[in-house]
Amino acid sequence: TLLPGRIFDVNAAPLPNGGAVLVLRDVTRAEALERAQREFVANVSHELRTPLTSVRGYSETLLDSGLIAPEAEPWVEIVLKNVDRMSRLTEDLLVLARTEAPDRKPLRRSIAASTLIEDAVRNFTSDSARLTVSGATSTPVLADEIAVQQVLANLLENAAKYGRPSDGSEPRIEVAAEDTGNGMVLFRVRDFGPGIAMEHHSRLFERFYRVDKARSRESGGTGLGLAIARLLIEENGGTITLDSALGRGSEFRFTLPVASSAVGADTADEAF
Ligand code: ADP
Repeated sequence: TLLPGRIFDVNAAPLPNGGAVLVLRDVTRAEALERAQREFVANVSHELRTPLTSVRGYSETLLDSGLIAPEAEPWVEIVLKNVDRMSRLTEDLLVLARTEAPDRKPLRRSIAASTLIEDAVRNFTSDSARLTVSGATSTPVLADEIAVQQVLANLLENAAKYGRPSDGSEPRIEVAAEDTGNGMVLFRVRDFGPGIAMEHHSRLFERFYRVDKARSRESGGTGLGLAIARLLIEENGGTITLDSALGRGSEFRFTLPVASSAVGADTADEAF
């Protein structure tokens, strides 16, 4: 009640004489600016949905109508491809803005790690990659199921997109979940592709960071997938890391907290 309605950053340091120094920094304005920026991005992304749907609809109709010269069809296909790219970008920006909202509360519940893996494998559709489960613990984790599915889908998609072995054979992906015994379950998504050079590791989870821009664009990437993955995993109390080197494939790993058996599924979030 120092100054009602204002937001402070508080730092405290003990003094040798037993007292303490308390430093209060008024961050009301910075918080308000950040919030306005987030809301702006969310609104713009949302508003772009309708016109994009319209452009897609009319482009598809044009292609189906037979009214354009066959030579012009590839141009409309390019329009469609770019509309798809823009839709993915606006959807990803919307997810980022929503995930970052301070009043957001993830809906966490207890769910078996193996169920999360099974659902991700079932939802994964790729006719050009071979996916195997190399072990999945039934230990329950406390997590927002939709968020975890989004992360797993993104990692599997990346492995299929960028994980083609150097001999040109189809990408092979292994997914696993193991109970590490320290209160966390470790999820792993491994591929046997070209791998990622060390110099990129520290920046890979940043927004719009890509190792190979042309390749990412070509495959329809937005450069936001791993940034979203990190936000979602951290929001669920875990961490996400990468183990990879050039020529050795890549393994993305993330952890989620084990759901305590004493806590019921519905009340899990409050208890955490
Ligand atoms: P994008 O939309 O470009 O795929 P991501 O954030 O998902 O964005 O990934 C960022 C970049 O990391 C990609 O552009 C790609 O260069 C690199 N990358 C991600 N996963 C892999 C992988 N399994 N193997 C090699 N490179 C990868």
